[in-house]
Amino acid sequence: MITIIGGGPAGMSAAVAAANAGASVLLLESSSRLGGQYWRHLPENGLDSWMGQSALQSDYGAGFLLRNHVMSNPKIEVLCGAQVWSVTKEKTILVNFLHDGVSHVVDTQRLILATGAYDRTLPFPGWDIPGVMTPGAAQALLKSSHVLAGKKIVVAGTGPFLLPVASDLSKAGAEIVGLFEVNKLRKWFAYSGVALRNYKKIVQGGRYLGALHQRRGYAVISAHAGAAGELEFVKVAKIDSRFHIKKESITAIPCDAAAVGWGFTPDLSIAQSLGLNLIAGQDTYPVVAVDEYQCTSDPRVYAAGEITGIGGSELSLTEGIIAGQAVADSEMGINRTATKRKIERNSKIRKKQRRFANTLLKIYSVKSGWKSWVTDETLVCRCEEVSLEALKRSIKELGVTDARSAKLLTRVGMGACQGRICSRTVVEVIAGEQNIEVEVQDFISTGNRPIFTPITLGILAEGSKPYQPL
Ligand SMILES: Cc1cc2nc3c(=O)[nH]c(=O)nc-3n(C[C@H](O)[C@H](O)[C@H](O)COP(=O)(O)OP(=O)(O)OC[C@H]3O[C@@H](n4cnc5c(N)ncnc54)[C@H](O)[C@@H]3O)c2cc1C
Repeated sequence: MITIIGGGPAGMSAAVAAANAGASVLLLESSSRLGGQYWRHLPENGLDSWMGQSALQSDYGAGFLLRNHVMSNPKIEVLCGAQVWSVTKEKTILVNFLHDGVSHVVDTQRLILATGAYDRTLPFPGWDIPGVMTPGAAQALLKSSHVLAGKKIVVAGTGPFLLPVASDLSKAGAEIVGLFEVNKLRKWFAYSGVALRNYKKIVQGGRYLGALHQRRGYAVISAHAGAAGELEFVKVAKIDSRFHIKKESITAIPCDAAAVGWGFTPDLSIAQSLGLNLIAGQDTYPVVAVDEYQCTSDPRVYAAGEITGIGGSELSLTEGIIAGQAVADSEMGINRTATKRKIERNSKIRKKQRRFANTLLKIYSVKSGWKSWVTDETLVCRCEEVSLEALKRSIKELGVTDARSAKLLTRVGMGACQGRICSRTVVEVIAGEQNIEVEVQDFISTGNRPIFTPITLGILAEGSKPYQPL
């Protein structure tokens, strides 16, 4: 039996590929619906809830078909609302998950990790004011609840993801009072060959740019609340190529919501707790190291989608197909040469998609100058309310040289999100204060937690009930 964690594009395509190859699959997904970040949809499960979204996103039909393949395949058991909170390795792999308030443990021979990514944030003055959120949050409100984050919205940061978010919000009735991309379009000139080979993507981006007014070379550098404590305006400034502010350019833009994001961060919580090899991704942040079969450093564990490198939904689908096929063959003892032949076509597609994804990461990169926008009072860790000043003090006065000791001495990263939001920033601040380059190992040392989701002491004391897949 194969267990897959994550029901996004990668996890769903892996489930179908593995089941089609003859394996039995248990698919665990923490949210109440399959689809992942890309195919978020309204609460109802029927055709209407998917197709009702197609006004927002052109390929909802593909998501609906894939989800139906998963749900109707007798070899796939799907458990939505199943939050995996710990995974350990013994002779077999033990996956602990919460479902309907009860903790279960499933004993599995093979595991596919497809846990995806979350928005990357950078701290700036006022980023904790109600109304300031990530683009992913604004989009999730809209896609899964049809709620608009605000009436007058600023969308800012970097990356192609800002475009569909601004477009969706605008179509749903919000006024986009500003759409700001910090990186310049001319960076594409250095990659014209890759652009030509992926012209459909470029045309898609061009369509968005034709319909939206995006200003490039600008960033939101602070957010400001009115008397009621809610967002009233943001300050926007022209930014140079190293992300330093051109001071004379600062302007205030009234708005009631700001969606500010800086790309994505792979969710490595489970991969790290299993001690899998991680390597530096295109943007230095770690990703799960996989071979051509999507197999990790543990031959029983495979990985697909954003956790092997940020690359978008299509690459996630391709990697899922390869992982599903390879893991099923490995479980059934089919030799690798035969597997290789089967996945060859998808390997070529994966290579092309990965090259494009890496190009996007180079063009929409984040430079260290962002630290000059942050004031000493700005909170770095919002969960534990640790300011930049407190973090800097721990470096200067208490001898902190890494994120782990910063956590022990300031509580940074100890809150409900368990460092998912702030640890990347903390590593960069510490390196900046010491005038050294960030290395992949610095990020890796922050993230290893045996329990990666907050659970109650009661559940821990009670233990998990063995789960027998159907
Ligand atoms: C907020 C957000 C919005 C995005 N929107 C778009 C978009 O509109 N267009 C686009 O092209 N790309 C978008 N992306 C990029 C997106 O990540 C990929 O395109 C695609 O969804 C990646 O597929 P995946 O299967 O790797 O991961 P995901 O789609 O992220 O799926 C991972 C799944 O794993 C589940 N999971 C994670 N941890 C656990 C656990 N411990 N237990 C159980 N389940 C778990 C999650 O709930 C999730 O459903 C978005 C990314 C984010 C973070």
